[in-house]
Amino acid sequence: MTLQFRNTLTRRTEPFVPLAPGRAGIYTCGPTVYDHAHLGNLRTFMFEDLLVRHLAWRGFDVFRVMNLTDVDDKTIRGAREAGLSLDAFTRPFKDAFFADLETLRIRPADVYPAATDHTEAMIGMIGALIERGHAYQAGDGSVYFRIESFPEYGKLARIDRAGLKPGARVDQDEYEKEQVGDFALWKAWTEKDGDVAWDSPWGRGRPGWHIECSAMSTQYLGPTFDIHCGGVDNLFPHHEDEIAQSECCTGKPFVRYWLHSAHLIVEGRKMSKSEGNFFTLPQILDQGWTGREVRYLLLSTHYRQQLNFTFDGLKAARTSLHRLDELRRRLEDRAGDAEPGGLPGFASARREAFGAALDDDLNISGALGHLFDLVREANTALDHDGMDPPAAAAVRDLLTEDLDHVLAVMEPDPSETGGDADLEALLERRNRARAERNWAEADRLRDHLADLGWKVQDGPDGSRLVKI
Ligand SMILES: [Zn+2]
Repeated sequence: MTLQFRNTLTRRTEPFVPLAPGRAGIYTCGPTVYDHAHLGNLRTFMFEDLLVRHLAWRGFDVFRVMNLTDVDDKTIRGAREAGLSLDAFTRPFKDAFFADLETLRIRPADVYPAATDHTEAMIGMIGALIERGHAYQAGDGSVYFRIESFPEYGKLARIDRAGLKPGARVDQDEYEKEQVGDFALWKAWTEKDGDVAWDSPWGRGRPGWHIECSAMSTQYLGPTFDIHCGGVDNLFPHHEDEIAQSECCTGKPFVRYWLHSAHLIVEGRKMSKSEGNFFTLPQILDQGWTGREVRYLLLSTHYRQQLNFTFDGLKAARTSLHRLDELRRRLEDRAGDAEPGGLPGFASARREAFGAALDDDLNISGALGHLFDLVREANTALDHDGMDPPAAAAVRDLLTEDLDHVLAVMEPDPSETGGDADLEALLERRNRARAERNWAEADRLRDHLADLGWKVQDGPDGSRLVKI
């Protein structure tokens, strides 16, 4: 199986052929930092993490850019309502976003450009678009992209150009397909913008949301790059407008592969604040779930399928992770101090099938199916003394190192050990007693921990505490 992706631009599944052999340049639209990221946002970032990790596992040198949208209609409105400067308003949301990424074990991007640090590049791009006849300054002082000047406009979202009204303009960042028109590149200052404004050849104002991503992706990845990702809700108008701006500015194709993840719903319903099912990651963690469990759940549905986030799903994720933990522990016990030998035949076959499934447009359900076949087969082999210590060490490393470069779910979370110094000390005393084969003392300390509400779970990296 060659590596292939479903390309939204062509609506076809195509072999992945990067611009430069062995390298992959990726741009992923980052968060708009006007609020905490919700589960739907995190689902998109998780799919992108799987993409990046799989490419890296396949030996690609990945360079990933993720922008931070810290100036747009929403951030300006939020800052005004909070009575704060734009920076003071967005900073806590930026920090919270990075904390979420860490909790979910999402591999950091190589660069996180913030829109407010790149207004010069945006102004340069808008100037070039005006020069080439693709943009104009309207009577309200704002600069608009002239979609009439780009016959390919609509190729990503498949817009019927027959319905376009010549000269129609739209000045907000987000709009419906029915409102298609010339869209704002530079928005002239109005009172609502407060002190959010930059000087430009067209007067004081601020960039539109779409030009931000065109300018930042070009600056870090060049005029043409390999992969652009995002949630399907950004396909129109955001990504459509990015294509128009970039291709008209540089005269080159913008992106070779467009990958979009589907929506997330919660307990079968659309996520919304009024439905009371609008969750952030900290809200889920407060209910006693771990980042690892949320990661597993968000990861386990194919990115182009709608993901139904449920608490039963989290329970199932917990069970799956326990099965993996359990096998790790058994393999560790069997391996002892042995050096890893060759992989048993069943394990290398499953490894191959796992990789082939992911090569096929990141078929994660297929890949996890092969992983749990491996779990079953390894347990059977252990039950029947079918694995010698070097083989057990090799299968352990396959799980915890090789495959975990892609999955990143094998290591328990620090939160799973309680993080309390007194509890940690008790656990350590119990482990020492166990190592010294002082079973009575080990059992006494285990029971004491249980009285305090913590169950001891033994694993390959030692023991951890799990809340009862
Ligand atoms: Zn973007």
